[in-house]
Amino acid sequence: MISNSPQRSTGRSPETLGDVHCGAKKTNKKKRLRKRKRNKKKVTPELILASNYVHNWAFGCLADDPDKVADRVLFELHCHSSCSDGFLPPSAVVERAHGNGVKVFALTDHDTMAGVSEAMEAARKFDIKVIPGVEISTVYSAREESEIEEPVHILAYYGSCGPARYEELDRVLVAIREGRYLRAREMLIKLSELKMPLEWEHVVKIAGNGVAPGRLHVAQALVEAGYVENLKQAFSRYLYDGGPAYAKGNEPFAEAVVQLICRTGGVAALAHPWALKNPLAIVKSLKAAGLHAIEVYRSDGKLAGFSDLADTYGLVKLGGSDYHGRRGDDEPDIGCVDLPVFDVYEFLKLARSIWYDAMKGMLLNFAEKPVHVNMDELLRFGKLNDDTISEYSPSWLDKEENAAAEFEAIRLKLSHIMRNTSGLQMPVMSG
Ligand SMILES: [Zn+2]
Ligand SMILES: [Zn+2]
Repeated sequence: MISNSPQRSTGRSPETLGDVHCGAKKTNKKKRLRKRKRNKKKVTPELILASNYVHNWAFGCLADDPDKVADRVLFELHCHSSCSDGFLPPSAVVERAHGNGVKVFALTDHDTMAGVSEAMEAARKFDIKVIPGVEISTVYSAREESEIEEPVHILAYYGSCGPARYEELDRVLVAIREGRYLRAREMLIKLSELKMPLEWEHVVKIAGNGVAPGRLHVAQALVEAGYVENLKQAFSRYLYDGGPAYAKGNEPFAEAVVQLICRTGGVAALAHPWALKNPLAIVKSLKAAGLHAIEVYRSDGKLAGFSDLADTYGLVKLGGSDYHGRRGDDEPDIGCVDLPVFDVYEFLKLARSIWYDAMKGMLLNFAEKPVHVNMDELLRFGKLNDDTISEYSPSWLDKEENAAAEFEAIRLKLSHIMRNTSGLQMPVMSG
């Protein structure tokens, strides 16, 4: 999202200043040497353990060479494609991520997962791992002042098979997208009253085929019509929250969406809390609803205030570029936020047990009722094969043996089904 006046960190801790890397391409030799020196100094058994865990998941290998153990990794966990309000198609976003050195990538389009399959397909070429994601538009409303609503974006991260109970999630996403059409029309009415008429067809064309127009598309139309000089001006003058051309959407409550993400086997993270007017109350309320993580890192470093908030509420610290591919706008580039290995380690430990349970549920569903609809759940974003199953192999879990035996039983059931139905060619079954 665009925040009108992104709040700069007021309490950035001095030790993080040296860790800010923006634009992986720009890193010169000198910096690399300095980084290596710094990394060398910091290598501890804990760092090696965390690095090994992250590398093992991301690349299927260990990072046991102390010279290669870095304290940060390039995971891009927040970016957009033309399937929502980004300007590049998912495959081009992946290509750009690869060019910038990203190894693990989550596409988090607004209120749709339509681009995930294309991103996964493109990622195969570059050996990038994709985490299926979505950024869901919600509102927060404090009970005592229920008429005041604040827009809140919640990121959801799913395992390779995507969400369990996909239909339940999709129904909510469809309702939000449909609400956005109404909202865009209302913004155009307001702009027309402000003597800045825009053509509806033009805004829809900017949004692209089948994409619900958002504020960014209306802003783009304002630039193209010459009413403002750039996107920033469109937001700061007319489209900011509560601005003269702002219109409220049809978004669900943030707490309900966090619960929905939990129910569908995802990790729920609060996006760009620095854009919130009321971050403390929102974090408190969302934590009670099951929130797992919060964005703390961005292109200009760690925001100490939100890092403290994460510590207070036991939330995993994440971050990403929020890249949209806007032309001529100096937005942070994809892959410009590298995350501390320890935070990625905490994220993966949590996520993998959530994803494992979701995957297990979907496999059990299919094993017990091998019908197309249950098969589709597993194949939504790709193929189900031995790799996928072993990827979820719980050898790293505390309940190792128990979990492994559990999975073995599912595997057995599945192989029986596959034999009886000639591999993945499912017979047409009703139900
Ligand atoms: Zn956002
Ligand atoms: Zn975003």
